[in-house]
Amino acid sequence: MQYPWHVPIWQHLAQRYCSAQLSHALLLSGNPGLGKAILSEQFAQWILCEAATKRPQLPVPEKLLPCGKCNGCLLYSAASHPDLMRVSPESEGKAITVDAVRNIANFLALKSQFAEYQVVIVAPAEAMNKYAANSLLKTLEEPTPNTLLLLVSHNMGSLLPTIRSRCQVISCPVPDATQANDWLTQAMAQSALPTEDTKSLLMLAEGSPLLALEYAKAGTLSSYKQLLQSFEKLTKKQSNPVEEVGLWLSVGLAPSLKWMYLWVAELIRFKSGVMVVDNNTILSEPVLGKVAESVESMRLYTFLDKITDSIRTLPTQVNVQLTVEDLLISWSRLNR
Ligand SMILES: [Zn+2]
Repeated sequence: MQYPWHVPIWQHLAQRYCSAQLSHALLLSGNPGLGKAILSEQFAQWILCEAATKRPQLPVPEKLLPCGKCNGCLLYSAASHPDLMRVSPESEGKAITVDAVRNIANFLALKSQFAEYQVVIVAPAEAMNKYAANSLLKTLEEPTPNTLLLLVSHNMGSLLPTIRSRCQVISCPVPDATQANDWLTQAMAQSALPTEDTKSLLMLAEGSPLLALEYAKAGTLSSYKQLLQSFEKLTKKQSNPVEEVGLWLSVGLAPSLKWMYLWVAELIRFKSGVMVVDNNTILSEPVLGKVAESVESMRLYTFLDKITDSIRTLPTQVNVQLTVEDLLISWSRLNR
């Protein structure tokens, strides 16, 4: 299976490969939820596939995927292809260590066993700690022939500039709204999920279809709507932080902060007069009007900074309850 928004990227990569112009290091970059890891796996399998080794004639056919039947594909499917190496953190949120990256150099020092190429996938590349990144730099600077390094990143900005500049950056953009919506509607129908909320789900997922599907399966939209209602009630003084905090804690700090940011940013846009109220507006008109009338812009910006600070320190937050309470109380006070 191939995601429709991957087709142009495949075309580009396959064309480079078939004309022997593939860079030895590719950096696949884009937002989470676009299937970059799957794309890197599919492309790695294709490079190891015997059908690819025959290098299709240019222009490359539109549907170009691993054959699934050859020796290379069978070894890949059995997770035992000796010419493929994956480097990832030991568990989610952990760093990729320098030892793991040194293994790449050792692996590439060997000759390929079956395929024409040796392929290494590093995902997510931003998980490399400083020492690991510096170690990879040496491998990138001294490329060995017929090797392909595939770096996958959700946050290219956090990579060392020297790593970025030694890779060919392949951007995986968010698909256009119609394509994303069509795909999501079909995928949700296949999973027997109701399909009327696809647009809201895509809005929450910032246009990433796979993330939107994950949200649909997890019931994220209903949590979002509950928090939005709670936020509006706090703004209109129809409730107080003590009554609301439990709901916010049950949804979790990360989504709470992300959505609150979205709403406060909308309030700032509305207050500054750059936004017109239309179908895409999230907050209700009474809430927009009340805040625009009674809260100074500077205080909104300060509050947005407060949310940003909490987002930045999210991985090290120890007292989640305190953070949520503090935000809700601050917001409530702002709306006197
Ligand atoms: Zn194959």
